[in-house]
Amino acid sequence: PPFLELRGVSKRYPNGTVALSDISMAVGEGEFLAIVGASGCGKSTILRHVAGLVAPSAGDIRWSRPPAAGGIGMVFQEPTLMPWARIQDNVRLPLDLAKVPRVEADARVAALLAQVGLADFAQAYPRELSGGMKMRASIARALVTRPRLLLMDEPFAALDEITRQKLNDDLLALWGEQCFTVLFVTHSVYEGVYLANRAIVMAPRPGRIHADIPLDLPYP
Ligand code: ADP
Ligand code: ADP
Repeated sequence: PPFLELRGVSKRYPNGTVALSDISMAVGEGEFLAIVGASGCGKSTILRHVAGLVAPSAGDIRWSRPPAAGGIGMVFQEPTLMPWARIQDNVRLPLDLAKVPRVEADARVAALLAQVGLADFAQAYPRELSGGMKMRASIARALVTRPRLLLMDEPFAALDEITRQKLNDDLLALWGEQCFTVLFVTHSVYEGVYLANRAIVMAPRPGRIHADIPLDLPYP
C-alpha cells in the first residue's frame, strides 16, 4: 500500500466554505511532492488533513504505517521560533518534549545546525537572524525528531529570490541525505517543478485536483 493515501476527501468548514471536493491522491514513501495552485484552492487544507489538524467531512486518510509522535515535521511561512530561547534551544525543543536524553539531543541539534549552515548561530537568539536563517532554524527544528514526513506550507514565500534558491538547494540536499517524504505547498510553479519529483496541480475552485504530473523524467 502507499505510504499515505487520501481517498475521496471532501472538506466543508463550519462556516460553509467548501475547501476540498472529493480529492484522491496517493503518496509513496520518499517522494518529494509539490502541491501547486492559486491562493484559496485548498492546498493548506490538504496539509491540515495529513497533519491531523482537521477531520475530513467525507472520505478518509490512510497510512501504511501511521506516524508516531514526532513522525511529522511541519514548516510554515512564518518561522514560529520562541523569541526568548537561543537557536539551539529552539531546535532542541521537540527532543526535550520527547524526553530524549540531553547528551544525545545536543549532539543531534549540533549536527543538524551544521547541516543547515547555522553552526555559528547556535547561541544566537531568533531576532539576531535574517529571515532566511530563521527559516533554516525552523527546518532544523522540524527535522530534529527524524520525521518520516515533512509538511511545508509556502515556506519560502516571504524570502527574496536568492535566499529562496539557496534554501531550495539545501532542502534538496537534506532530502537526499535523509529519507523523509515531503509535501510541499507552493503557488510557484517554478519552485514546484524545481524541487519535486511529482506535482499535483489544483484547479482554481472548488478544491479539486486538476493534474498529477511526474517530474522525475530525465531531460533528453
Ligand atoms: P490555499 O492553501 O490553497 O490558499 P486553503 O486550504 O487555505 O487554500 O483554503 C481553501 C478555502 O477554504 C478558501 O476558500 C479559504 O478561504 C477557506 N478556508 C480555509 N481555512 C478556513 C477555515 N478555517 N474556515 C473557513 N474557511 C476556510
Ligand atoms: P494560506 O492560504 O496562506 O494557507 P490560510 O489557510 O490561513 O492562508 O487562509 C486562507 C484563507 O482562508 C484566508 O483568506 C482566510 O480569510 C480564510 N480563513 C482562514 N481561517 C479562517 C477561519 N477560521 N474562518 C474563516 N476564514 C478563514
